[in-house]
Amino acid sequence: MKTKSFTALLRMVAIPLLLLLGACQTAPAHNQPPVNGVPQVTVSIPPQAFFVERIAGDAISVNVMVQPGDNVHTYEPSPEQMKMVSNSQIFFSIGVEYEENWIPRFTDINPQMAVVDSAAGIQRIEAADPHEHEEDVDSHDNEPADHGLDPHVWLAPDHGKRIAENILVALVELVPSKAEHFQENYESLITEIDELDAKISTALANLDNRRFMVYHPAWGYFAEQYQLTQFPIEIGGQEPSARELAELVKLARQENIKVIFVQPAFNTANAETLANELDAEVVLIDPLDYDWLENLNTAAEAFANALSQ
Ligand SMILES: [Zn+2]
Repeated sequence: MKTKSFTALLRMVAIPLLLLLGACQTAPAHNQPPVNGVPQVTVSIPPQAFFVERIAGDAISVNVMVQPGDNVHTYEPSPEQMKMVSNSQIFFSIGVEYEENWIPRFTDINPQMAVVDSAAGIQRIEAADPHEHEEDVDSHDNEPADHGLDPHVWLAPDHGKRIAENILVALVELVPSKAEHFQENYESLITEIDELDAKISTALANLDNRRFMVYHPAWGYFAEQYQLTQFPIEIGGQEPSARELAELVKLARQENIKVIFVQPAFNTANAETLANELDAEVVLIDPLDYDWLENLNTAAEAFANALSQ
């Protein structure tokens, strides 16, 4: 609630300000002294750092919590990372699991730090679960409390645009003297995202088979934007049992699945078993890759190749 209303306020105040600013100097809203003269912000995941750096260039330094190859769903900050948080003026959340428990600790050690929800305004969708028709729901017992909503909001061009806008608004408030510069960078980023979106739409436009299998269901928002359907191999965050794996083979045959997507930090043995069984290909895509634009482009090409087979 708190972070949401803060962003809403920023949105109301800062967007009109953006239009007026330029030379007009306002006192920074965040009182913490900058480190080595460059303000520092902390983000949860590498794709958010990409947005901050595309918008702010060298004017802001970025501390990233979850590193590529980490499992974002089980991640916890190290003491060194806590030190970085204590030097940050903004924490940009995205809604991944550890934030719920750790943001209160961040604001304990750094009460001056603003917490900004970089995913504010994004409608969260239900997490994919192909097994909900089964009576056996025991495997769902270990899921976190927010089970049901998909946290991978950043993996779609439309949502990337919203995240960029949320970050722009907060950065302009942090460094008002750079407003014009940030706005220009933001606009050229949006142009590139629109170009990517057009390219992906074209690549996926004429596919009859719009279904794909993925070890960990990170691509729900991408699927939503381009009318695709993902079938996860994981069941409620757990590896499937032998019986469930047999069910998945049946499902994949029905759906003519020819490619299975996997990502680092997750056990891919089951995906490979399935791929062997189906004579399908395993493709590695990391949802946490820093270069968000390039990564979505690569993902789209992989999807298009997979689905046109
Ligand atoms: Zn995930």
